[in-house]
Amino acid sequence: MTNRERRELQSRLQSAIEKMARSKIEFRWRDLQPCFKLLPAGLSPKAKAMTVAHARKNLMEMGIIERTGWGRYRLSDGDAIDDLGVDRPATTATTVQRYARDPGVRSAVIRRAKGKCELCCKLGFKRPDGSRYLEAHHIIALAADGEDRMTNVIALCPDDHRKAHFGRRHRELEKKMIRKVNAA
Ligand SMILES: [Zn+2]
Repeated sequence: MTNRERRELQSRLQSAIEKMARSKIEFRWRDLQPCFKLLPAGLSPKAKAMTVAHARKNLMEMGIIERTGWGRYRLSDGDAIDDLGVDRPATTATTVQRYARDPGVRSAVIRRAKGKCELCCKLGFKRPDGSRYLEAHHIIALAADGEDRMTNVIALCPDDHRKAHFGRRHRELEKKMIRKVNAA
């Protein structure tokens, strides 16, 4: 496999794992079995397992999934609020519109914030590993043609994230957030 093929395979695996993770409260190794179908047939079983484990590790490092216990993982909390559906346009009951989010943008924004909410400047609470918890928020929703770029994504404390979605002053907040990220 060339490096390019390897990168493409990793990105396909990561999307497959992320999609599966969105459909479950928690997942284990056996839930990753469908991903093995994406792998070239010629790989040894050990190489296959390592390739899938690598994709899972990448997703964890990007903050998209997190470990909840021995061999157990789930989608990170930061994305959970988006599953309430408020980011998306009204669709029919049978259609779920999914926007591809660049995980690199999300992690770069979290890094840019250095542990502080980019709106109220409060430090996120500490996770078990000592890092600060923040949620990445698309200021203009992807559904409203907002861009998946660092100038449209802000790291928020959970309280501000919910205010941004459900607060009475969410329109004002939106303007304030745009000013903040443009100054960041
Ligand atoms: Zn805040």
